[in-house]
Amino acid sequence: MLDKGRYDESKPLDMHNLQFDLAAAKLDLEPWIADKIKHPRRELTVTFPLRRDDGSIQRLTGYRVQHNTLRGPGKGGIRFHPQVDLDEVRALAGWMTWKCAVVDIPFGGAKGGVTCDPGEMTLAEKERLTRRYIWEISPIIGPEQDIPAPDVNTDPQVMAWIVDTYSVFKGHTCNSVVTGKPLSIGGSLGRLKATSTGCVYVLQEAAKHLGLSLEGGSAVVQGLGNVGYHAAELLHDAGVRIVGLSNVQGGVYNPKGMDPRAVKEHFDKTGYLPDYPEADEIGNAELLELPCDALIPAALEGQINLANAKRIQARIIVEGANGPTSPLADDLLKERGVFVVPDILANAGGVTVSYFEWVQNLQKLFWTEDDVNHRLRDIMVRAFGEVLAIAQREDETMRTAAYMLAIGRVAEAKRVRGIFP
Ligand code: GLU
Repeated sequence: MLDKGRYDESKPLDMHNLQFDLAAAKLDLEPWIADKIKHPRRELTVTFPLRRDDGSIQRLTGYRVQHNTLRGPGKGGIRFHPQVDLDEVRALAGWMTWKCAVVDIPFGGAKGGVTCDPGEMTLAEKERLTRRYIWEISPIIGPEQDIPAPDVNTDPQVMAWIVDTYSVFKGHTCNSVVTGKPLSIGGSLGRLKATSTGCVYVLQEAAKHLGLSLEGGSAVVQGLGNVGYHAAELLHDAGVRIVGLSNVQGGVYNPKGMDPRAVKEHFDKTGYLPDYPEADEIGNAELLELPCDALIPAALEGQINLANAKRIQARIIVEGANGPTSPLADDLLKERGVFVVPDILANAGGVTVSYFEWVQNLQKLFWTEDDVNHRLRDIMVRAFGEVLAIAQREDETMRTAAYMLAIGRVAEAKRVRGIFP
């Protein structure tokens, strides 16, 4: 029996390790394989100077962790955030390994990050930071080695600077080194909204499984970044009432529903979300506890934990963020009948369309948005079905089932590849 008390649920790496251990224990793996694939393969820490606009120079620290490359190149985003540290990047890199394996795309898992506050940086400073960080990690990234992408506070423009910096370093244009690029330099149609589109597909599958109708139902979305905003927009357009929305400043609540476009317009105009006039102001903690059919946490890790899980009233949680629910909260949610679609399945639409983008780049082809979304839907629906079948067979949470599927695939790759030398 696992002693869950040994893990600190507020730490992403402990969360990752406990999630892994719970599922690995069910799989009867060779101990050396379980031990090998749990831990990162390669970690790089870099420090570098950033010249600020006022002429001062700041020393920054960044990371790139390649958790696993058994099934293909490392794959995963780059995060710019004050909370970034090596352990968080390790956890995020591990989650990428399991995510790519759950949806069965030929990538391993990786993640990068720089500890910084982009909120207090100018665009020019952000560009210098990006270029220097990429220069520092360029020996270990590449289209066949490790392919970065957007994550918290990074976007297509940041990806374009990465293409440019890496291409100068290589001496020729190399757009397949990152995904999530602007369309003008080889980005894919459908990529910007892909994580949210994938969330909607699995939400539809979850609703079907539970016999719920989403049309006229209600949803709460935490986070108004790329994932949260587009998820709210897609659901609103599909006839779901968006009753709660939030960002770091706080949230807004209207039981009759809100148009996320109007909320974002208000935020873009005023710079402050919680005083959106068509709704009541609400704190982020209360927002998570609102009654609704679907709750989509799309912000940072550790939002749903032992302290608040007993008050969650959502019927379904679709994890747009990475690591929003602690493993200890999972048990409580299961007991209370809340159906959780775990991050490594729920938000895999982003990396799946990243895979499509990479394939298009390597083949010098362009697919239509319909083609992208159809292929995405097929992959998400199939993965959901496979995870649900394991969850039902084993009487486990969807999370443990997803890990069992993913770990089984990565372990098999290790088994057949063996050990060098
Ligand atoms: N940052 C996204 C994630 O956490 C996308 C990663 C990618 O496309 O490589 O899944």
